[in-house]
Amino acid sequence: MIDVERIRRDFPILGREVYGKPLVYLDNAATTQKPQCVIDAISEAYCNVNANVHRGIHFLSQQATDMMEAARDKVSQFIGAGSREEIIFTRGTTESMNLLASSFAQAFLKEGDEVIISGMEHHSNIVPWQIQAARYGFKLRIIPVTDRGELDMDAFRSLLNPKTKLVSITHVSNVLGTVNPISEIISQAHSHGIPVAVDGAQSVPHIKVNVKELGADFYAFSGHKIYGPTGIGVLYGRKELLEKMPPYQGGGEMIKRVTFEKTTYNELPYKFEAGTPDYVGSIALATALDYVQEIGLDAIAQYESELCDYALGKLTEIPGMRIIGNSDHRSAVISFLVGNIHPSDMGTLLDRLGIAVRTGHHCAEPLMDRMGIPGTVRASFSFYNTKAEIDTLSAGIERVKGMF
Ligand code: PMP
Repeated sequence: MIDVERIRRDFPILGREVYGKPLVYLDNAATTQKPQCVIDAISEAYCNVNANVHRGIHFLSQQATDMMEAARDKVSQFIGAGSREEIIFTRGTTESMNLLASSFAQAFLKEGDEVIISGMEHHSNIVPWQIQAARYGFKLRIIPVTDRGELDMDAFRSLLNPKTKLVSITHVSNVLGTVNPISEIISQAHSHGIPVAVDGAQSVPHIKVNVKELGADFYAFSGHKIYGPTGIGVLYGRKELLEKMPPYQGGGEMIKRVTFEKTTYNELPYKFEAGTPDYVGSIALATALDYVQEIGLDAIAQYESELCDYALGKLTEIPGMRIIGNSDHRSAVISFLVGNIHPSDMGTLLDRLGIAVRTGHHCAEPLMDRMGIPGTVRASFSFYNTKAEIDTLSAGIERVKGMF
């Protein structure tokens, strides 16, 4: 059970006003707000344990290193990884996908090969592959999206062929809210011996994820979308694959021995973590994951699903409302358009009422093209949102409609 009033008190920003109105924050898919414990963890790390990690023999450096490495253990446990060596700290999902695309392509992809992505990917699971495709000559194949906003699974099956070397797919769409049948995708790809990478930016904060049970070969997510700080994220990779992949960046930390003739690389996961890492970010991310686990992902998923059903019920009562994405399997994201009102006009006017939503293409331009729309208004929910806030959103939309 979620005690939403108690939870809201953990988030100082939720108490503020915008344009003299109580803040209604419905832009959680872009970033989540931070509980006081995460803010305190950042402050505490800088006040008491700040020192560069891994290379120091002095007390503070060792303490900071221990805390960062404990954070790696926490992440590993949170997503059910096989070992801590499989957890690479990055700046976020975008950097995780760039690391993966660059290193995987160098190790495994050549001209004539194929990588399957889908028509509902965020640009960060499209463009890194395009950059590497231009370098190595492999092709991108795209799973089409149906009118309901689901992956066309028959088309997916027919795309799998001996040239396919990787499937890279989002777990949850940041636009449609669709939860993709990721287990099914993985088991079908694996039956052809093809590894699967999952963009978990929109799933990890909302659904209990166990990468081993899912069988994911790679899994990426961002700290800031799961109540942690900005600038820290994770790439999980299966050890056996990571070991065959070359480093992404060169520099300190990622080496074993450097000479001008020959350099050898560090072991996992450090091989992929060049330079001073955001150790404060990883420490505070661990605090965020503890916080989420204390509330419980089952309780979160149930509460957010109720909230989402309530919102869908309320919004569809509004004449002229068009919901973009109607999958039965959905997470806490609702995209919509109302009559002929441009999404940015709707967003700007809702903002004046204190309601924060996101508008535009949501970094998924190919999906907008597929749906034949320039963009959407997107409301996205967290366990700290309430039904009363959804009532405010719905009344706000009616009010904006009345202005046109
Ligand atoms: N993938 C998805 C599905 C996302 O929603 C986002 C963030 N909007 C990203 C990737 C990129 O995440 P970040 O900007 O934190 O790197």
